[in-house]
Amino acid sequence: MTAQLIDGNALSRQLRTEVSERVTALKARGITPGLAVILVGDNPASQVYVRNKVKACEDTGMHSVLERYEANMSETALLARVEALNNDPTIHGILVQLPLPAHIDAHKVIEAISPAKDVDGFHVASAGALMVGQPGFWPCTPYGCMKMLESIGYDLKGKHAVVIGRSNIVGKPMALMLLQQDATVTVCHSRTADLKAQTLQADVIVAAVGKRNVLTADMVKPGAVVLDVGMNRNDEGKLCGDVDFDGVKEVAGWITPVPGGVGPMTITMLMVNTLESAERSAG
Ligand code: NAP
Repeated sequence: MTAQLIDGNALSRQLRTEVSERVTALKARGITPGLAVILVGDNPASQVYVRNKVKACEDTGMHSVLERYEANMSETALLARVEALNNDPTIHGILVQLPLPAHIDAHKVIEAISPAKDVDGFHVASAGALMVGQPGFWPCTPYGCMKMLESIGYDLKGKHAVVIGRSNIVGKPMALMLLQQDATVTVCHSRTADLKAQTLQADVIVAAVGKRNVLTADMVKPGAVVLDVGMNRNDEGKLCGDVDFDGVKEVAGWITPVPGGVGPMTITMLMVNTLESAERSAG
């Protein structure tokens, strides 16, 4: 069996067109959705991420502000910038690019963002809202995974989903979102005794680890849906996921590639969250 591809680029294009249309409608009411991105230091990967986020804003007609600061910026100064953006009516979403330099308490900074502008969905208020099923911003990467499942018309009700990874930004929120859609969810992590025994039971597998070949063909039930969140480099320095794509695509029913899978969806869902924040502020 050869799996069908879930094309994150194509789905992103479609969703971003819809975002652009809603941005145009909001602009006609005098409101331009605005995203502020704060980058502290010169982490090369972070620089690429923030550039892509700002470009996505421009492409969808949103307003964006990129604030760049030296790595020695004080925590107090950063908190003051977040507070100023909380009070800026032209800004509907605030994103502080992680990781932050070691002398800054990232948790404190994220908690300083107004939950109404927490478009990354990392604030404890956003996490709590997701847990109790209340409206709030969902973290963009697992939210993008849910959109991918929706795009193939996959009904999660009664299905067994296995999430590999339990981080606060991917694994845990992913598990909650799948649970909300009535899947039976297993969360695996580095201390899971027998990962293969778990994944072989799964109708849906989400790999969010950050290690190559965590999921191989012998670990996948025929026909399963496999979503690969991982971003790693192979021996040739090329971007690859956590899943042994060539092997697993012969067993799975659906699979996301890396690159061109979950990655573009993450930025797309950031646009969706920012737009929805602006729509909420418009009433
Ligand atoms: P993270 O915070 O490092 O979490 C990794 C998780 O994997 C942890 O829960 C860890 O378990 C678990 N793990 C480690 N080794 C394992 C193993 N051998 N078997 C099973 N579980 C194992 O990473 P993250 O932030 O969630 O990101 C995960 C990956 O997704 C990374 O490659 C990251 O770059 C990528 N990512 C991609 C996007 C995107 O847009 N495509 C967005 C975010 C992240 P413990 O909890 O026990 O340590």
